[in-house]
Amino acid sequence: MTDVRSAGVDDLRARLRVVAERVDEAARLADRDAADIRTIVVTKFHPASLVRDLASLGVADVGENRHQEAQAKAGELADLDLRWHFIGQLQSKKARQVRAYASAIHSIDRAALVDALRSDEDSVECFVQVNLTDDAGRGGVAPGELGALVEHVLETPGLELRGLMAVAPLGEPARPAFARVRELSERVVRPLAPTAADLSMGMSHDLEEAIAEGATHLRIGTAITGNRPIAG
Ligand SMILES: *Cc1c(COP(=O)(O)O)cnc(C)c1O
Repeated sequence: MTDVRSAGVDDLRARLRVVAERVDEAARLADRDAADIRTIVVTKFHPASLVRDLASLGVADVGENRHQEAQAKAGELADLDLRWHFIGQLQSKKARQVRAYASAIHSIDRAALVDALRSDEDSVECFVQVNLTDDAGRGGVAPGELGALVEHVLETPGLELRGLMAVAPLGEPARPAFARVRELSERVVRPLAPTAADLSMGMSHDLEEAIAEGATHLRIGTAITGNRPIAG
């Protein structure tokens, strides 16, 4: 059983501090400035009240992976100045709705989704997600198709490409996986889009490895929120 009550404000404050210390230490070891690393707190399955508590503690970036849940929370918390990051697999038919509340979409993985996000009015930050596994059912574009997808994003109005996103595969060391993402960024993305150099990678258990390989956006859930309630 998970303990939903584990996320009182004092617990959140303490866990935020622990994560910030981990980030500082990993940045120091990598000879990087911790200020260049943004922590997105992943609040999926947690109630809007927890997000409100996080905001009261200074959290400005939150991540969600399911559209309906994200839309409801963003609506309920519209009085707060939060940046919502969409990090889950996204159906093309939901794309326009996600645009309405998200400041960044981290899970761009196919041309049809890019087309669905096209807009001549405003622009949303985005990351192309790379699939580091051999399982095509996982989110993300295969590395061999990355260049074509990046080109498609760049020629589509309304999408501001920030860089790449990835999840380290289960059951393998994370660091070489993150090194592949960095290498893809340098070899495939940067020649096409020199400023799209950000790397969204690193979760609760592998943020140190991600920082060592250049992560600029960490997506941290359980290390800050405590265990997630069972998905409803
Ligand atoms: C849930 C989730 C996270 C956060 O995972 P934790 O292990 O709880 O830190 C990060 N990225 C994605 C894509 C997720 O779905």
